[in-house]
Amino acid sequence: MESLLPLSSGNAAGMSLGELNSLCQRLGEAKYRAAQIFEGMYRHRWRDWNQFSNLSKDLRGRLASEARVEWLAIEQSVVSSDASVKHTLKLADGCETECVYMPYENRATLCISSQVGCAMACSFCATGAMGIKRNLTAAEMVGQVMSLVIHHKHPNGTPINIVFMGMGEPLHNLGHVMDAFFTLSHPKGMAVPPWRVTVSTSGLVPGIARLGEYNPRPRLALSLNATSDDVRSKIMPVNSVWGLEKLALALRSFPLGPDELITLEYVLIAGYSDSAEDAERLSRFAGRFPSKINLIPYNSWPGSAFSSPDEADLNRMGRYLAERGHIVSIRRSRGQDIGGACGQLAFHNRSERAI
Ligand code: SF4
Repeated sequence: MESLLPLSSGNAAGMSLGELNSLCQRLGEAKYRAAQIFEGMYRHRWRDWNQFSNLSKDLRGRLASEARVEWLAIEQSVVSSDASVKHTLKLADGCETECVYMPYENRATLCISSQVGCAMACSFCATGAMGIKRNLTAAEMVGQVMSLVIHHKHPNGTPINIVFMGMGEPLHNLGHVMDAFFTLSHPKGMAVPPWRVTVSTSGLVPGIARLGEYNPRPRLALSLNATSDDVRSKIMPVNSVWGLEKLALALRSFPLGPDELITLEYVLIAGYSDSAEDAERLSRFAGRFPSKINLIPYNSWPGSAFSSPDEADLNRMGRYLAERGHIVSIRRSRGQDIGGACGQLAFHNRSERAI
């Protein structure tokens, strides 16, 4: 029999509501059926068509003969002493991606990837050293979230934060990232509030402007990491094209909602970004638009040429910024011992403890 569905992979997992609409149309089913499938797949996390009690038996049978609901397989999971878990997931074409589940008392934060590898080549970053293999599709990004909540039995209704801070530069793959965002935040599905989703960029100015055109959209974070063009261009090549002045202007014109702040992620690297002058320049940069600052001590990784800052320098910078009225917090990246912290996602833990 000729296939009725435009499913090259025969897998409905990760489909958007629009894709499910086309699928139902091709099956001769009313549009509201797509919303029922969407709700079953994302809200109830059903994976077997027989579980879709909101569909007729006949439709369940036809769907089963055409497609399965199969989320990304977890190949390896490594547990940190702080309870974060880094997962390696297998993609349909044999590529792999990594994401991290970080449990807190009343919520969890999921750090997910937008690309396999990354083209931005930041010199302090393990992912940057891999180069870019390909963009992830929206379904693969949604798939990371679903695989993690299912694997960790994350209770329905308990908040999750989603941060696009894993492998890749999300603004290099903005169309797919936004498609994933719309599926994840749709009220009929997981209904993750838009303000609980954050996209972190290395500073792609045209991408920042494009993100600002969406409504709703995720929050914006900038991975800043240096306060002079000289140093920033050395460790983040994107800065040679989009320097700090262009970046500040792009952030000033980013259309923020009431009370919304742009997060500045500032990794302190010993000898590069941890001086008293850095603190002054960081304060001036951050004062040009509504912002909050996260100071993150650098996590070294095998083969890295950089080292962590002194605790005293880290605390001094934190105090200086707070005294100048900035909202500042010192973030110790979770999952440092498993290579799951910022800038460490690059398949380093193959031989480590799996669960
Ligand atoms: S820090 Fe981010 S943008 Fe830079 S290479 Fe790593 S993953 Fe890419």
